[in-house]
Amino acid sequence: NKMIHSIQSAENALMASNERFVTVLDSVDATIYVADINTYEILFMNQSMKNLFGSDLIGKRCYQVFRGESNPCPVCKNDALIDDQGEPKGVAVWEEENPVTKRWFLNYDRAIHWIDDRVVHLQIAFETTKIRELDRKRKEAEAMLRQSQKMEAIGKLAGGVAHDLNNVLSGIINYPELLLLDLPEDHDLREPIEEIKSSGERAATIVDDLLTLARRGVAVNEQVDINHLISQCATLPEYDKLLSFHPGVHLVLSLEKDLNPVNGSPVHMQKSIMNLISNAAEAMPEGGQIQVSTRNLNPEEIMNEGLPSYPNGYVLICVADQGVGIAKEEQEKIFEPFYTKKVMGRSGTGLGMAVVWGTVEDHGGQIKIDSQVGQGTVFHIYLPASAREAVSADVKTIDLDAFQGNGETILVVDDVKEQREVAKRMLSRLGYTVAAVSSGEEAVAHVREHPVDLLVLDMIMAPGINGRQTYEQIVSFKPDQRAILASGFSESEDVKQTMHLGAGQYIKKPYSIEIIAQAVKRELSGPAGE
Ligand code: ADP
Ligand code: MG
Repeated sequence: NKMIHSIQSAENALMASNERFVTVLDSVDATIYVADINTYEILFMNQSMKNLFGSDLIGKRCYQVFRGESNPCPVCKNDALIDDQGEPKGVAVWEEENPVTKRWFLNYDRAIHWIDDRVVHLQIAFETTKIRELDRKRKEAEAMLRQSQKMEAIGKLAGGVAHDLNNVLSGIINYPELLLLDLPEDHDLREPIEEIKSSGERAATIVDDLLTLARRGVAVNEQVDINHLISQCATLPEYDKLLSFHPGVHLVLSLEKDLNPVNGSPVHMQKSIMNLISNAAEAMPEGGQIQVSTRNLNPEEIMNEGLPSYPNGYVLICVADQGVGIAKEEQEKIFEPFYTKKVMGRSGTGLGMAVVWGTVEDHGGQIKIDSQVGQGTVFHIYLPASAREAVSADVKTIDLDAFQGNGETILVVDDVKEQREVAKRMLSRLGYTVAAVSSGEEAVAHVREHPVDLLVLDMIMAPGINGRQTYEQIVSFKPDQRAILASGFSESEDVKQTMHLGAGQYIKKPYSIEIIAQAVKRELSGPAGE
């Protein structure tokens, strides 16, 4: 009896000890298995291993069930685990993505003597998928930081150069102007001097880009409606010019209706979008589609993209083309000032993407490239959204169709060529018949010859008569002349007097297509002379 008792208690102790070991093995956050080193037969799996691959795999071949191979794996470490005598030797440590689970593991393999004394293969593995992901994000963040430090330095350098160049250029632009004033119309030197002037102006636009890079940290305090900026791009003179060089290219907009606003600098934002559109067009010499889209990001996407969190989330702008694409190793270079694959100084200056980069940084955003050589490129721009305030009247998007004209005649009077062109473009786009003149005197003469339904009148013009004087002269022979006043300055005494004479509305320059559309419509449909 005593003997039976002691055998039983020894057995109990053994079972308890076995249970302890299995409990521990099944509770560790590592996958553990044992397989025969010659037959690859699975002899043991702990619970983590079973959770991952299935619970009744004992007796199966390890390479089949753990790696989906039909023969022993090429990566099998068995040979390395035993010495010449077939005895266990050191550990093999290796990391790999498991082809079945698609998860990453750090594996510790070694040969051991099994309970029946044969030599077997023991593997203990720790999953590293998450660590790798974190590591990848950290490296990405570091690369971004390096990139932004590099850009900062190059930007400073470029800015210094630009500053000096700007002073030099003002002479090259201003003197031709003065010379031209004194030269008779038919003088031989007019043409070359005009050429000097326009070259100087082209150089000035480059310098302007450089200054944008140097003046980093622009004010981003205006509430910007990105959709509106994008739609406006198609009305810019640059856009027409672009299309004339790339006739096979067409632009498709797909803009989210309730896009959140962004705090920003509209000028820089629009310039950046235009730069992306130009590059997209230039990447498609055979023509193709440029798609510009916008949408609000949801919180999950923001997390997946690893973006820092902002209270109002993010707005995403995508500019996609079907062009030549950008090779991986080029992708971080394209943001450097003066990096260009185009003919330097002719088609490219290499400043477009640098301006985009600086602008996105200033807006607290991020830019990502998705590109394949020969397939096309997508630029993703993530911008922190701002709270939706009561949007002020001049950024509100309106349905332009409701403000279309019907061929009514409008005369734009402005001494600045660009202003005239923009106004002409916008008004033609709205369906009006538009003419433009550059001075009050010309306006008076024009209206005498060809009466117009409406004047869009600049207030300050030099040299010659100003807006008020122009309107005074015109109403003297056409008392019910309708007019809108446009000025870069706030409402002045001249504006008030002109309105008193019967001009209808005053709008502040620069105005958007929405503003002028509404003003013109209101003016034309109201009673005349008010
Ligand atoms: P530029 O257009 O004057 O060359 P950018 O700074 O705008 O200068 O662009 C730099 C370079 O980046 C381009 O020369 C081109 O090689 C590459 N790149 C930019 N956008 C695209 C695009 N959408 N598709 C292909 N390449 C592009
Ligand atoms: Mg460019």
